[in-house]
Amino acid sequence: MPVTTDPAPLAELTRQDPELAEVIAAEATRQADSLQLIAAENFVSPAVLEALGSPLANKYAEGYPGARHHGGCELVDVAERLAIERAKALFGAEHANVQAHSGSSAVLAAYAVLLRPGDTVLAMGLPSGGHLTHGSPANFSGRWFDFVPYGVDPESGLIDYDRVHHTARAHRPKAIVCGSISYPRHIDYAAFRAIADDVGASLVADAAHPIGLVAGGAAPNPVPYADIVCATTHKVLRGPRGGMLLCRADLADRVDRAVFPFTQSGAQMHTIAAKAVAFGEAATPAFTAYAHQVVANAKALAGALAAQGFTVTTGGTDTHLVTLDAAPLGVLGQTARGRLASAGMVLDTCALPHGDGRGLRLGTAALTTQGMGEAETARIAVLLAGVVSGDLDPGAVRREIRELTAVFPPYPRR
Ligand SMILES: *Cc1c(COP(=O)(O)O)cnc(C)c1O
Repeated sequence: MPVTTDPAPLAELTRQDPELAEVIAAEATRQADSLQLIAAENFVSPAVLEALGSPLANKYAEGYPGARHHGGCELVDVAERLAIERAKALFGAEHANVQAHSGSSAVLAAYAVLLRPGDTVLAMGLPSGGHLTHGSPANFSGRWFDFVPYGVDPESGLIDYDRVHHTARAHRPKAIVCGSISYPRHIDYAAFRAIADDVGASLVADAAHPIGLVAGGAAPNPVPYADIVCATTHKVLRGPRGGMLLCRADLADRVDRAVFPFTQSGAQMHTIAAKAVAFGEAATPAFTAYAHQVVANAKALAGALAAQGFTVTTGGTDTHLVTLDAAPLGVLGQTARGRLASAGMVLDTCALPHGDGRGLRLGTAALTTQGMGEAETARIAVLLAGVVSGDLDPGAVRREIRELTAVFPPYPRR
């Protein structure tokens, strides 16, 4: 499912500001001729890029369609209504707010609806794969709320729902957050809903990672279970950088007011237009095929990496995410990431359940957009293991990655 055109050639920028144009051109080349295995990244379509670079970037639009604090919003109102209606249809939600500037802003707004400072919140601990907004002391969440962490089983790497239930009963949180930056398995939203109901808590699903798979029917939908679903639009969903919230009609006004005016003011109309474009793309059969191929590629990658000697967390994946322990190959995650970067393979380190900095996190969203399939991902696993273990020459692998990405460019020339 590769996209079929070049992004804009930057003609005006090159004339006016060659210094900056050169940075953008070099970054485009870096993205195209190395392998993007960062699980949160993807390649948006040229149509999404056009909406992002459109004159909608000039418009001030505080408020919501039909109720703005600025004049001249008639046309951007149409764009935002399209984004809202498409998001509602895509995820079967009664209400969608598409103004959140980022995933973190969406989570902040959800907390603003459901919590008061000092309230107790149960969320996955950061060493197990919780996000910064799930109680990091360096983040507003950890400063303003009393977070109680749940973990994953250290042996299986899986969420132990009985233990989550036990912790919830012991701490009686006001809200429970489910969602993670690195959990590679489907989340049992019905189980979380039952736990939340038992202890009288609200349920927030932070589906920033899997929401694109949900759109393509390749992962379970949290919308029927969570009071508020928070998400990003730029990960597997393949839209512009940004956030959104989905909820029932009875929470619609409170969610909207938590985004504007409580945590944000002017909406970014170019981004909202680009979200509408991406939601339109995500509603197509081609995107459904894409989402399923993302998962097939991740399963192939996990299987091939296990065959190469890595310990694959949870023994595999249901999603686009694969997390690994590099220790059996004799290195720490940080060392492995550096070696792989020099060979043209870009990925993240991550915490592991038994927490000692050995983890690597990979995702297949970007390479699947480029049109790669299971054969390519299996070859990538061999190259990756060889570079990490030191058995393969990084320079030779760098050349092979260039050849591979030349066959599967993110933005093929027509
Ligand atoms: C990516 C992510 C976020 C934050 O998204 P930003 O747009 O970077 O703020 C929040 N929660 C989870 C679980 C994520 O994976």
